[in-house]
Amino acid sequence: MGLWVTKQLRELGEIIWLGDVAELRQMGERDGHLHIGAAVTLEDAWTELARRWPTLAEMHRRFAGPPVRHAGTLVGNVANGSPIGDSPPVLIALGALIRLRHGESLREMPLQDFYVDYMKNRLQPGEFVEAVRVPLIAAAPVAGWHLRAWKISKRFDCDISSVSAALAIQLQGDVITVARFAFGGMAGIVKRASATEAAVVGQPWDETTLNRAMDALATDFTPLTDMRASAGYRQQVARGLLKRLWLQTRTHSPLPAQDVRAFEATA
Ligand SMILES: Cc1cc2nc3c(=O)[nH]c(=O)nc-3n(C[C@H](O)[C@H](O)[C@H](O)COP(=O)(O)OP(=O)(O)OC[C@H]3O[C@@H](n4cnc5c(N)ncnc54)[C@H](O)[C@@H]3O)c2cc1C
Repeated sequence: MGLWVTKQLRELGEIIWLGDVAELRQMGERDGHLHIGAAVTLEDAWTELARRWPTLAEMHRRFAGPPVRHAGTLVGNVANGSPIGDSPPVLIALGALIRLRHGESLREMPLQDFYVDYMKNRLQPGEFVEAVRVPLIAAAPVAGWHLRAWKISKRFDCDISSVSAALAIQLQGDVITVARFAFGGMAGIVKRASATEAAVVGQPWDETTLNRAMDALATDFTPLTDMRASAGYRQQVARGLLKRLWLQTRTHSPLPAQDVRAFEATA
């Protein structure tokens, strides 16, 4: 919201600061979920997410910079609903729920159903986001379960993503049984790549399946060209991120993370 003032010169009128409401500052395990209250800062939330899912550590480090991470909240990032917000892809890939409150009335839905259209969500008048809840089942070390999250931006940190992706798969032997691929920067909202997921589920995780999945991305997304990236670049990058997932998680000679990172290649 700070940017509405500094960039758009908007008068915000009266503002209610929720940061000291004890109930909204809560974070912890509840009913098999990691509960992240609306006033939990980005820094605290990402520290906890990366502690439970270590492959999120780079996303944490590259999310904005320390001043923004200590001032902004994870729920603010989610409620804001920007198609290039970095938290929603990760939370959607993890199967997170969003909890909405209006007085005594409470409802919950999968985060992936919360976004309707560009900057439009399912919040009703008077309703606010109380918390985000991440199922912890995916945090247990299960053989064959993989989560990766990558952000593509011009600067290493404190930059807005051109594309971001959170990709989760469950392998049984060399067959993919579950896929949750969520992309930011590829559409008017952060969303799952359902055709791409369908191209891999039930298939052996080999190069043929990978190529089918990369082609299916064109069915899922028709990205825009804007000042950050062209449509063609976004499609190419999304294909590359799928390939990076495959290189790291294929059952035959998977590559360690440092072998498929652009930063190492240019260092
Ligand atoms: C320098 C800079 C770098 C940044 N880098 C990144 C980045 O790398 N990745 C990224 O994803 N974002 C980035 N951002 C965006 C920023 O992190 C988010 O805007 C921030 O997380 C929003 O959180 P907030 O708590 O400040 O929300 P606010 O700015 O207070 O609110 C944002 C919107 O969400 C609504 N909202 C907030 N909380 C609730 C609630 N509980 N219920 C209902 N609606 C609510 C508000 O009404 C408003 O419309 C960056 C911002 C800056 C200024």
